[in-house]
Amino acid sequence: MGPWFRGIQSTTHNQQSAINNQQLLNSLTVDVEEWFHICGVPPLRPEAWPRLPSRVEQTTRLLLDELDAAGITATFFIVGWVAERYPGLVRSILEAGHDVGSHSFWHRRVYDLDRVAFADDLHASVLSLGAAGASAITAFRAPEWSINHRSEWALEVLVQQGFTADASMAPLKIVGDVSYPRGAYVRSTRLGPIVEVPPLVADRFGHVIPMGWGWGLRMSPPARVLKEIERANVEGRPAVLAIHPWELDPDPPRVPLPPGLRFAHYFRLDGFLGRLRTILRGASFGPLEAAASRAGSS
Ligand SMILES: [Zn+2]
Repeated sequence: MGPWFRGIQSTTHNQQSAINNQQLLNSLTVDVEEWFHICGVPPLRPEAWPRLPSRVEQTTRLLLDELDAAGITATFFIVGWVAERYPGLVRSILEAGHDVGSHSFWHRRVYDLDRVAFADDLHASVLSLGAAGASAITAFRAPEWSINHRSEWALEVLVQQGFTADASMAPLKIVGDVSYPRGAYVRSTRLGPIVEVPPLVADRFGHVIPMGWGWGLRMSPPARVLKEIERANVEGRPAVLAIHPWELDPDPPRVPLPPGLRFAHYFRLDGFLGRLRTILRGASFGPLEAAASRAGSS
């Protein structure tokens, strides 16, 4: 079944649990895309991409330097369109010891596609990653967490194409469902199992917030994020963080966006790199497999 299904661990004794949790590795994931890879915004349609200023190489290399300095390896979910244009960047990611997964080819929401279109896009992304030197792609993250109750069929397509882990289903109302499990778990499909690895959320102010990614991660003081990571770890769950190179851009281009997307993309970018640095040094992180290998059953 591959490494994702290794060690289903459970601890019952408190002391044993504390020992295990000390060794518990959290997962750092990076969605490698351009600042203009935002779904559903007409001026940012793919036809416009070649004319927009590219920032992905500079910002991803900045992040690679940060991770090198912190001694952290991560999983990089790379957009196929980016891999095709910057194969050298993919090679640098691999040479630094990171894992590579797919973030689709055209960065479209999965629930806006049908099964055939999603299968074609997924296959194209695997081909472009392979051409850049990243073979045996087995982990996927959908753009904008777009595998949810509207598109669960996509998990079957992933299994069909040899994927063993998906990190697309967020336990958060606006993009997913708060009833989704918060720890990694095995999902059954008609074509076989796949490990689902959700991103870190936390209960704050009577709401579930995206503590491990997006505005929730950028808004929160590092001490708060670290506390929520520790809380997940005490409960036996590795925390999964998700970041984007464009969040670290010292000179980010911007376009007018509808309010929800504006918040998701532009809220509190100021000083994020410094806060992230503190978080990365405050807990232990590895690639997605760190969390996926602890999957229980749903
Ligand atoms: Zn994305």
